[in-house]
Amino acid sequence: MKAAAYLGVRKIKVVNVKKPEVRDNGVLIKMWTCGICGSDMHVYNSGLLMEDSTKIIDDYRIIGHEFTGEIVEVGKNVKGFKLGEHVVSVHNKGGMAEYIEVHGDRLRNLFQIPEGVKYETAATLEPFCNPMHSFHLREPRDNETVAIFGAGIIGLGYLQIVKANTKARTVIVDVSKLRLETAKMCGADITINAREEDPVKKIKEITGDHYVRYQKKSAGGCEVSIDCAGIPSTFLQCLEVLSPENGTAIIAAIHEDEVNIDPNMVVFKYMTIYGSMGYYEHETREALDLIASGKVNRDMLITHKLPLEKASKAFAIQGNPNEAVKVVLINE
Ligand SMILES: [Zn+2]
Repeated sequence: MKAAAYLGVRKIKVVNVKKPEVRDNGVLIKMWTCGICGSDMHVYNSGLLMEDSTKIIDDYRIIGHEFTGEIVEVGKNVKGFKLGEHVVSVHNKGGMAEYIEVHGDRLRNLFQIPEGVKYETAATLEPFCNPMHSFHLREPRDNETVAIFGAGIIGLGYLQIVKANTKARTVIVDVSKLRLETAKMCGADITINAREEDPVKKIKEITGDHYVRYQKKSAGGCEVSIDCAGIPSTFLQCLEVLSPENGTAIIAAIHEDEVNIDPNMVVFKYMTIYGSMGYYEHETREALDLIASGKVNRDMLITHKLPLEKASKAFAIQGNPNEAVKVVLINE
């Protein structure tokens, strides 16, 4: 079968590997769609997370974990899944392949696609679970302001969840016009292009510019801020825009570099900082229910659909934030 393998930095190639055999406690899924995740991009760009994000088949590292498909074989000891069922997977690896076998414990990461939800829409489930978890760490209240750094699939998903559940004011920052336009369509109250203006200055203009003792820098007025971009500047901005007291920063992106911070900013602003990575099973169900409810438009975030054979090109497109929000591979 065909599968997309990671061969080294910025090298993805479609190779032929052995089609997996179904174990007695497993199911075989014919892949229909597989999204390119931010973590796949870390593998692609630097090799970071390679072990965690790929599955070895015939000595190749097969990439991808955000897949949907149809169950085409069911092992004789499997309960709860049947032939022909449409499923979406989270956590399971080796998704960019014509077929994927999932067995044993891993079956709990397979969810039935609700009726009326398309395969490609369902393929956006996994990157919707992460922001669902971030949302529950500190739910914004209706009268609060939330700053979101990064309008990729995670930042936009977080925005959609905040908008679907609260009346909080949302400010979102990015450098891509396309992504900021998409944020507007998702209901963002204020969008800031960090290439054109200083996002911290702008946020302080909107929310107030407050003195904080023992610090050179002033504070903004956001109750919650989230870093979905994962670069040193957004990490620091995330802390600075928080209000003088009791703000919450959520760090929801993987960073490739270290950050220099003034700890007094954390201390004298009585700040809470959460690390957000991964999610619980009930949050996956909640994310799937929200997609099925039609209250959020996930299709809007899919900018490109390419056949599995074009995986290499798909990664190149996903790597350009001015061109793409979410790229999904299709196995026809
Ligand atoms: Zn993912």
